[in-house]
Amino acid sequence: MHHFTYRENQLYCEDVPVQTIAAAVGTPFYLYSHATLTRHLKAFQEAFEGIDHLVCFSAKANTNLAILKLFAASGCGLDIVSGGELYRGRQAGFAPDRIVYSGVGKRIDEIDDALKAGILMFNLESVDELKLIDQRAGRLNRRARVAIRVNPDVDPKTHPYISTGLKKNKFGIDTEAAIEGYRLASGLEHIEVIGIDCHIGSQITEAGPFEDALKSVKSLMIRLKSEMGIDIKYIDMGGGLGITYGDESPPSLKEYAKAFLKSLEDMAVSLILEPGRVLVGNAGILVTRVLYNKAGQDKQFIIVDAGMNDLLRPTLYNAFHAIEPVVRLDTSFTVADVVGPICESGDFLALDRNLADVTGGDLLAVMSTGAYGFVMSSNYCSRPRVAEVMVKNDQYHVVKQRETYADLIRGESLPPFLDD
Ligand SMILES: *Cc1c(COP(=O)(O)O)cnc(C)c1O
Repeated sequence: MHHFTYRENQLYCEDVPVQTIAAAVGTPFYLYSHATLTRHLKAFQEAFEGIDHLVCFSAKANTNLAILKLFAASGCGLDIVSGGELYRGRQAGFAPDRIVYSGVGKRIDEIDDALKAGILMFNLESVDELKLIDQRAGRLNRRARVAIRVNPDVDPKTHPYISTGLKKNKFGIDTEAAIEGYRLASGLEHIEVIGIDCHIGSQITEAGPFEDALKSVKSLMIRLKSEMGIDIKYIDMGGGLGITYGDESPPSLKEYAKAFLKSLEDMAVSLILEPGRVLVGNAGILVTRVLYNKAGQDKQFIIVDAGMNDLLRPTLYNAFHAIEPVVRLDTSFTVADVVGPICESGDFLALDRNLADVTGGDLLAVMSTGAYGFVMSSNYCSRPRVAEVMVKNDQYHVVKQRETYADLIRGESLPPFLDD
């Protein structure tokens, strides 16, 4: 459910015609709906009512400050994977005791910053990391609260690049090694073991894998108690719930929550969830303008002003995004590839898509691009990163300025020896 709808053949974001914003800010740009973001977060939080829980938005899905601020103000926590995300999260007003820190490659400076901030929990991904964090915490005179990210070897049945809970993935520690990790952790002076963490992948469209993962985490929790007397206070089940891009039918929030609720009812633990995509994915679109039509040998191409540097998902994951005209025209349809201006054959937004006949100047909306859209964009081919806009009711605001050419060379410096 989202607030991008047609009124008399015009695409609106809430009460603002998308065309109006395009005329004012130029294209391409990302457009976010405040009502959709708010609604998704609220529905997610409500699905877990009845058990002790903390929803930590997975920042990497969309780190725009306006979105972070909106979520922080709605009682949400934050799941970060870098020092930069910690910085953004603090700027947006997230309380440190609602921040969890995941990721396989935390650097010393990032660990120190998180320790100083006093975050809720580090999700550890290796024994090396555990030892380093103990050392750093000692040096800073703190105790680091930790969970170990376990790898339950559950197949989330999603794209291989976004499945993370299999033995062959770089993430987490398998259960047997995790037990040894907990044994070690519980003896370290500057470590306080408080949780078990697990994140099995992304864009998961069935409840089964979550149930299986929880079963595995629960039995680990029981073993930790009985074998080592470790009391686990937090079970972090990560994110990963999928959304509808095309014909997927992911479980509803209620069904998803049910995978955890029954099983946790009788346990004295707090559940942490790290949703990313499901909160922001359908709350954003990418608006692009058609530049040219081109008839290839055996293909039609629609060339638009947004490319793989602006939206990488189609290229990286072969991801499907619906593409809709911003103004619906009474035209025939053609099958075409929607491609960008980048000098790569992988630069496409859609392949063999049945689309209304559009011509140069028309606007297209690439739907469901609120997650892993802008955050994965780059300056490849010296293309300034696009603007981001947020709508609330009949108002809109540019929440990130389009980069300028001057931004492109900011920080570059010519060595004096070039003049030798
Ligand atoms: C990416 C990620 C998430 C969020 O995943 P979604 O599929 O966007 O919900 C949560 N936790 C961790 C550790 C992640 O890496």
